[in-house]
Amino acid sequence: MKVLKGNGVSPGIATGTIYIYRSSQIVPEQGLCAPGEEQAQLEHYEAVKKEALDELTEIILAMEKNDPEKAKIFRAHQDIVNDVAINEEIPGKIKDDHWNGDWAIYTIYETFTRMVKKAKDPLIAERAADFEDVRRRLLRLWHGGKKEGLSALDRQVIIAAKELLPSDTASMDPLKVLAILTETGGLTSHSAIIAKSYGIPAILGIQGLLENVEQDQKAAIDADKGTVYLDPDSATSDKYAKKTKAWRQEKETTERFRNIDAHTKDNVKIDIAVNIANADEKELEAADYTNSVGLFRTEFLYMGRDTLPGEEEQLIMYKKVLERFGKRPVVLRTLDIGGDKTLQSLKLPKEENPFLGNRALRLCFSKPEIFTTQLRACLRAAVYGNLWIMLPMVGSIDDIRKAKEFTKKVQSDLKKEGISYGDYKLGIMVEIPSIALVADHAAREVDFASIGSNDLCQYLCAADRMNSAVENYYQSYHPALFKLIQKTVESFSNEGKPVSICGELGGDPLASPVLIGLGIKKLSMGAASVAQIKRVVSCLTMKKAGEMAKKVLECATDDEVKTYLMEEKCINGQ
Ligand code: PEP
Ligand code: MG
Repeated sequence: MKVLKGNGVSPGIATGTIYIYRSSQIVPEQGLCAPGEEQAQLEHYEAVKKEALDELTEIILAMEKNDPEKAKIFRAHQDIVNDVAINEEIPGKIKDDHWNGDWAIYTIYETFTRMVKKAKDPLIAERAADFEDVRRRLLRLWHGGKKEGLSALDRQVIIAAKELLPSDTASMDPLKVLAILTETGGLTSHSAIIAKSYGIPAILGIQGLLENVEQDQKAAIDADKGTVYLDPDSATSDKYAKKTKAWRQEKETTERFRNIDAHTKDNVKIDIAVNIANADEKELEAADYTNSVGLFRTEFLYMGRDTLPGEEEQLIMYKKVLERFGKRPVVLRTLDIGGDKTLQSLKLPKEENPFLGNRALRLCFSKPEIFTTQLRACLRAAVYGNLWIMLPMVGSIDDIRKAKEFTKKVQSDLKKEGISYGDYKLGIMVEIPSIALVADHAAREVDFASIGSNDLCQYLCAADRMNSAVENYYQSYHPALFKLIQKTVESFSNEGKPVSICGELGGDPLASPVLIGLGIKKLSMGAASVAQIKRVVSCLTMKKAGEMAKKVLECATDDEVKTYLMEEKCINGQ
């Protein structure tokens, strides 16, 4: 029996046989083309691009009927193939610097992939997989390789691969995948996102995986511990067969909670809201089993394109979400971009400390035309539903007052122009400690607040949430974080104004009882967390939640809190 270790990014247990998936990973040799060969290389590049576009069209046509949202991914790949900047750089390297075409493709795509990967927002960083995917397709075609993918799985398997990219998983049947193992990829990689969204156990970052596994080899996977047992001995095999069965039963039990309304045992209603980003059909399905949209990250609409979205385009998108949720609130966050999160359509100066720089609301203030366009679209869309506008990165009462002036001005302009607009609420994200500490004042200025625990933790602990070198300092169970949450909740509750949480902590089964105990009645999270959080809520009493909150506030360290919450075992609603 061989044991391998990696990072368990999607929990669960599995036993089965290995299916090694090798996609082409061509790394061309660095080199110059023979003198006079440049033109032929340029023509080959054009031909390869055309072939890539044709392959992508084929995929899009096949998908459009059954999965139009996935088809969109491949349309975005076509945009990457045709990207103006990339198509200046690659031919430039061939023509002027005499690079071999495949080396030029490899290097220029590497630059773009790295740039995207560095983005602080995981939703943007995720897009690096798309650039890698397009590069892989172009290099394969450059060298005359055949099509690839995971569509041919005819039995249930444990996939072992270097890394999975969107075109690998696009036509994969998730029911055939018992677990995913990869050599590379972190929490925000495509493999991790796919695994989490389908609830498939996954261990990533396993060094030497492909050297150690064999096709059809037996394996037991413990993604909770990040451990892979290859050719397990009979004791391990029996143990994991039992564990797999128990885990599947747990999963089925949890899934039954998805469609219920979440009430504590003593009948206190807890609103379960969903976080959305691109507002596609798959995301909007959450309207069937959640109480509202707790966070609509609108920056998605601005990404991966050469022009900014106009008022009409935004209006259509916001209207679609509002109509889908009817009377239920849709918390729409205004543009949260800037710092390291750049937009193709917006040239921003480089900053020394982008996380502390001109981002989000600050950027909107410095680019009033962008902010105004979004607010006009929001106010016009408000006619179609229950719109709550939320401001990101609010650090002071001045920020709030300034934003209110913008909204008032937009409102009066629309009135003057005779354009109809609807009622809305205006609220803030509490994600900078300074605003949490003056939450009593903030609560008198706005209609609601939502706690952005991801950034609140980053700024409180002074630890970059995307820098793995300081991940031990990014302590999401730090008692100080719960104290800031307590202060915020108390301040807003005193004013009779709603306060929710929409950072990762809101969908964390360990933390949710504490948040409820601190007085939060609305938790917003990714759709994948909904069933489990509803299960936790259903097995909790307010008394217990209050006791847990009290205990956590008395702890001294992140570790103490985590250990205590694990001991409480609320995680599976026990
Ligand atoms: C947060 O900071 O907690 C949050 C929800 O916003 P984002 O993750 O988009 O920065
Ligand atoms: Mg944030």
